[in-house]
Amino acid sequence: MSKPRYLTKSRFKLAAECPTKLFYTGKDKVYRNLRQEDSFLAMLADGGYQVGELAKCFYPNGIEVESINHKDALAQTAELLKQENVTIFEPAIRHGNLFVRVDILVKKGNVFELIEVKAKSYNSVKPEILGARVGILSDMRPYIEDVAFQAHVLRSAFPNVTVKTFLMMPDKSVTVEISGLNQLFKIVRDGNRSKVIASPEAKTAKVNHNILALVPMDEYLDMINQDGVKYLRYTKALPLLAEEWSQAYQADLKIPPTPGSQCANCEFKSTPGDGFKNGFKECWAQAYQFTDADFEQGTVLDIYNYRKKDKLISDGRIRLSNVNEDDIKIVDGGEELSLSERQWMQVRGIPPDEDRGGFWIADHLMSKEMTEWKYPYHFIDFETSTVALPFHAGMRPYEPVAFQFSHHVMQENGQVEHVGEFLLTDPVVFPNFKFAQALKDQLDQDEGTVFMWSHHENTILNQIVKQLEATPNPPTNGSELIDFLRTLAKDGERAMYDLCKLSGKAYFHLGTKGSSSIKKVLPAVLKTSPFLRQKYSQPIYGSQNGIKSKNFTDFTWWVDAGQGVPLEPYDLLKDYGSTLLGETVLAGEDPDELVIANGGAAATAYARLQFEALGAEPRRKICEALLRYCELDTLAMVMIVEAWREFASTI
Ligand code: SF4
Repeated sequence: MSKPRYLTKSRFKLAAECPTKLFYTGKDKVYRNLRQEDSFLAMLADGGYQVGELAKCFYPNGIEVESINHKDALAQTAELLKQENVTIFEPAIRHGNLFVRVDILVKKGNVFELIEVKAKSYNSVKPEILGARVGILSDMRPYIEDVAFQAHVLRSAFPNVTVKTFLMMPDKSVTVEISGLNQLFKIVRDGNRSKVIASPEAKTAKVNHNILALVPMDEYLDMINQDGVKYLRYTKALPLLAEEWSQAYQADLKIPPTPGSQCANCEFKSTPGDGFKNGFKECWAQAYQFTDADFEQGTVLDIYNYRKKDKLISDGRIRLSNVNEDDIKIVDGGEELSLSERQWMQVRGIPPDEDRGGFWIADHLMSKEMTEWKYPYHFIDFETSTVALPFHAGMRPYEPVAFQFSHHVMQENGQVEHVGEFLLTDPVVFPNFKFAQALKDQLDQDEGTVFMWSHHENTILNQIVKQLEATPNPPTNGSELIDFLRTLAKDGERAMYDLCKLSGKAYFHLGTKGSSSIKKVLPAVLKTSPFLRQKYSQPIYGSQNGIKSKNFTDFTWWVDAGQGVPLEPYDLLKDYGSTLLGETVLAGEDPDELVIANGGAAATAYARLQFEALGAEPRRKICEALLRYCELDTLAMVMIVEAWREFASTI
């Protein structure tokens, strides 16, 4: 018998992003789905499973409906609901083709409390749910609409009960009193599903219940009921949408696509040769008769950080060639490349008299900046993780954990060396203060400029300072560490220099699609720098007389992919990317993009080391992969600076 095709809460949420996605979802053997719904990684990445399990611990008499079979789960729920008062985890509720598993349902006679548990961070001291003129804030709306959908199903199934609704979320204003909270819940892969195992201490641990805020949602649901659910550029009453979408899903009918800016992040995109259908291209073929050749010419989706994509698309101007100067409103950045100038270069290309062979560079600005830098140059990259539940007593949800850095040095004579690294992934060990100490040991030797790529490093330095100031048990040299970190942070005497910012204002390559991500800029400079090609096409990296490395031996980074174009360095490490995630990473695919978490592949690997039941060998392999990846991140900075020095002729 075929499985019923119900509109569930996750499918409702998906349809609110774009109703056409309902047709592609669940056909994972046919359409490529980059988001890996319900996958192990997604669970790991947002820490949701831990929050969900902790929430259950707060209801010690709760009974779990364990069946994954719809019919059995409905029967078990109906049986439990015969009790006057009962708390049920994952009860199954159905109304027609609508079907939800509620996280926690507390029945008190004729009153049903519906509790949706989310890993979304919340601050009870400064709640951010409503905006002054916009009503429900856009980042809260999907969560509230999710609760509204569940409440609609519950009320439709039980019209005579009173339903009260709540969101339960980690409260960033609350500290925990015990260490190792997030170690109480481990996750194991069980075939295609994932299972959470709570340790026996989880139920008895003295956890401040306020760590998960129980926030009443009824007033916000009233707003949704009044205003409707927002999807794409439309708004419609929730019951109507639920009916429309459930019918389409039940009949497996594709809701005609309405392409827009949301398509840029559509997860139903395949890569050439992966054997999957491409939902995104199907939509655009259906709506605009687009072919592969049309995609190659570029669309307005490609314009970097451009806010009027929807307007252009709804005007029928979907190709890059349809965009004109008035659409971009070019602002003269002077010596620097302004965002609009960058966007215009994407649309019309680099002006011929400024084209340096596929790229543009602000030579003068670049040279001027370089004269300010001091040798030896230090290139640093941090890997961090922000987990929902705090590691240690005194910490709050989502406090960052800095578990790794890599460190390359470049001398005035151009000599490069991978001089240092730090990695601390032992479960239960809070790494931040040891991280700060290791950084101090490695950087305190001289006064050279310290480089980072993006301001993330600066944010982490400030957070560690705050943690050192707040902890009741600081290291013996805590104040020294604070002074040191302050010198590196923004406005400090030796403030870290942001190369990403420099890239944004002084470098443009058509292949980066306007982005200044290091993973886009590195392949771009490798393609165009004769210096990099000559130097790194030899197996000198990690060789006796070449560049000293901690994790590579006789490695060649410039590898010809054909016609003189190098392979992307991150592709050379794709096997390590697969090790980080425990899932296959295909060529041309960025492991970070496979992971929903903000932190990307390294943070997910760290989560695996903390929360997954792993043997010694897989742990060793993940650590090895982390070390290599992070080393490439700082080597990438070295190579980019080498190329820029060459381009700006300032060697
Ligand atoms: S490509 Fe666009 S229209 Fe099609 S499913 Fe994805 S987001 Fe929706």
